[in-house]
Amino acid sequence: MQTFFCAKLMPVVGFLLTLMTPLVNAANPKIAVVIDDIGYRSSDQDALALSGQFTFAIIPFAPLTQKLAKAAHDSRREVIVHLPMEAFSNNHLLGKGALFADMDETTIRTTIRKSLDNVPHISGINNHMGSKFTTTAQPLSWLMDELKQRSLYFLDSRTTPQSIAEQSAVDYGLETAHRHVFLDNQLDHDYLNAQFDKLLTIAHANSYAIAIAHPHPQTIAFLNNISDKLKQHNIELVPLSTLLPMTTAKAERRQAPAPISNEQPKQAAPQ
Ligand SMILES: [Zn+2]
Repeated sequence: MQTFFCAKLMPVVGFLLTLMTPLVNAANPKIAVVIDDIGYRSSDQDALALSGQFTFAIIPFAPLTQKLAKAAHDSRREVIVHLPMEAFSNNHLLGKGALFADMDETTIRTTIRKSLDNVPHISGINNHMGSKFTTTAQPLSWLMDELKQRSLYFLDSRTTPQSIAEQSAVDYGLETAHRHVFLDNQLDHDYLNAQFDKLLTIAHANSYAIAIAHPHPQTIAFLNNISDKLKQHNIELVPLSTLLPMTTAKAERRQAPAPISNEQPKQAAPQ
C-alpha cells in the first residue's frame, strides 16, 4: 500500500519540484559589498582591480577621488560618495567636506552640494564615521532633502546603533539601506572569514545582506577569493542599488505606525 502510494505520488512531487525550481532561483540570496574610504592612497587602486560587482564609496576632495570614481564607473561598478560626518571622537580624521551637527542649515547644504559635485558618476552616499551626526535629527533632515533633490540613495553605515539616519531617509522618501556586517575590523584571515560567513548567514535568512569593507591589502586578498564560496552558497554579489527595493520596503515597514488597538493600556507607562 505504502509503496503504491509513493509510486503514485512521485510524478506529482517531480512536477511540483519542476514548478518550484525557477522560484528558488529567482529567490537566490544576494549580497552587496561596499568598499569604503577610497581616494587617499595609490594602493586603493588594488580595490578597483577586484573583479565582481563591488560598490565603491569614494571620499570627496581626496587626491585620487576623480580618478578612482571614473575608473570604477568605467569598469561598470557602482560609485557612491563616502560623506564625512561628525563622530563622537577622532574628528581630526574626517578631512575636507565634513558635516558637523552644529552647523547652520546654509553651511550644511552648501557643504553637501560641494561634496556631491566633487565625485563623478554617483548613485548614492554612505556616511564616513558619523556616530554623532547620524543621531541628530535636524541636520539629517537637511542632508536627506539634498539627496532627494538629486535622486541619490542613502546607505547607513551604522557606525552607532543609535543612528536615526535610515528613518530620516524614509521620511524624505529616499531609497535606503543599512550595513549589516563590517568585514574587516580585524585583518587576520580567520576574522575576515568569520565575518563573511556571518554575512552569508544573514543573506540566507533575509534574502540579502550588506557588508562594508576597507581597501586594506588583507581585505582585498580575501575578497579576491570569495567567488567559489558564493557559488557554493548560490549567493550573488550585486551592486548595492539592486537591493534597494527590498531594503527600502523593509525600512518603510519598520517605520509604519503600529495598528491602532482598542485595548486600553493596563497601566501607565513609566516616565
Ligand atoms: Zn569611512
